Amino acid sequence: MKPTMEKPIFEKSRPGVVGMRVPAAGVPATDWAKDLPAGLLRQAAPALPELSEPDVIRHFTRLSKLNYSIDGGFYPLGSCTMKYNPKVHELIARLPGFANLHPYQPQSTVQGALQVIHDLEQALCKLTGLARFTLQPAAGAHGELVGCLIIKAYHASRNDAERQEMLVPDSAHGTNPATAAMAGFKVVTVPSNDRGQVDLAALKAAVGPRTAGIMLTNPNTLGLFEEEIRELAATVHQAGGLLYYDGANFNAIMGLVRPGDMGFDVMHMNLHKTMTTPHGGGGPGSGPVGVAPALVPFLPKPLVDRTEDGTYVLNGDRPQSIGRIKAYYGNFGMLVRALTYILTMGADGLRQASEDAVTNANYLRVKLMDVYRLPFDQVCMHEFVLSGDWQKKLGANTLAIAKRLIDYGYHPPTIYFPLIVSEALMIEPTETESRETLDAFITSMRAIAEEVIKDAAFVAAAPHDAPIGRVDEALAARKPNFRWQPAGGHAGEVSSTDATSRAPGC
Ligand SMILES: *Cc1c(COP(=O)(O)O)cnc(C)c1O
Repeated sequence: MKPTMEKPIFEKSRPGVVGMRVPAAGVPATDWAKDLPAGLLRQAAPALPELSEPDVIRHFTRLSKLNYSIDGGFYPLGSCTMKYNPKVHELIARLPGFANLHPYQPQSTVQGALQVIHDLEQALCKLTGLARFTLQPAAGAHGELVGCLIIKAYHASRNDAERQEMLVPDSAHGTNPATAAMAGFKVVTVPSNDRGQVDLAALKAAVGPRTAGIMLTNPNTLGLFEEEIRELAATVHQAGGLLYYDGANFNAIMGLVRPGDMGFDVMHMNLHKTMTTPHGGGGPGSGPVGVAPALVPFLPKPLVDRTEDGTYVLNGDRPQSIGRIKAYYGNFGMLVRALTYILTMGADGLRQASEDAVTNANYLRVKLMDVYRLPFDQVCMHEFVLSGDWQKKLGANTLAIAKRLIDYGYHPPTIYFPLIVSEALMIEPTETESRETLDAFITSMRAIAEEVIKDAAFVAAAPHDAPIGRVDEALAARKPNFRWQPAGGHAGEVSSTDATSRAPGC
């Protein structure tokens, strides 16, 4: 398991070794240099490593294996669902008729692509109980911004300028308050009660004529279903506010319950989480936004409409629209993958995926709750949150447990989120994992709990077998340095002593 650290590629370089030979140009040589400013001319040849082709291939292949991936192992990241990405999606998205499209092609030549957008929108409406969707937003947070701008436009259209406050529960994903603030709202935090659900009395005290809306997710970030959702919705609506649903992780409730029926007016969904399109490494993502009938006029433009004769058209004639939110029509390849997923699963399959996700999460929860503290001892939905409090008392905190899991060959779960649980370990197995995989993970988590009892200092110093030990994660995130400097250095190269990490969380 333990990867060996090999010499960096520059150090393997041997003068004169070549991977390929470039044939003679066969055209007259020109003295291009005389036309270029002297300051731009290189005085010496660049210090490139000299290696054979197999050495280069092995170098990069080895590097690629140092990255943990969903195709390499179990990835129980909570909240930012990391599901298996069926490979058939890649085949379909790569079909030349999709992959070679140009966004400026005449609409008559892209009818199939417009139908994909149209059909996916219809499917999302059915799954959520909402009236229409825009597929433009490129990420979940981007969708949240669209949703907040729509809520703003709605209140503005009613000359209700007083509604400047967005309510956000204290268990919310960090993007919720950040997006609300970015859209110009004042964020008002609503506390959770001792069952990990929104405190209804506190919500009643917080709503009023300044309430623009509330951003909620159900199940919430503790993986718990908000049982009083109907009363929460009525409370906000009676005060004149709107309900925003953070549907980033929709895989808990597909085919079981719909946000539209729970009383939500606007929502986003992360196709790159729920609909198995790949994510990580910064994208591309897709965060479609759906709305109830009263908000349809404010959706970004254009939308794809189907005319009576069956032609698909990009309809930009939407005078109350908040405008365009992204160039062209969203990350189209993600839309192809998501529609492929929905069509291959079918309504029953999607429902079963949610049921399996919930079953898997509860299986792990019950098998671990005697060795890790379970702050909210209730049946969970697709994920659950443990606490490393007991282990921390013995000398190995949640960060150490996460690092030790790397030694066992797992990507760590999300840690220290949600903020309302001390030493949080947020675990989401997803529906695609087998009983054997879950059992192996349980065995590892229990083994780590044992290790903490026997030798907490050993766990506290983890990882022991990873290619990189503990790194300064703040430095790695704020000042990432992706360049390696050959011994002796070269002009223009920056130093590289700090490493980037396989950071837990999302
Ligand atoms: C992932 C996530 C988001 C943000 O989605 P991005 O695509 O990362 O911008 C928002 N809310 C919740 C609950 C999430 O899990």
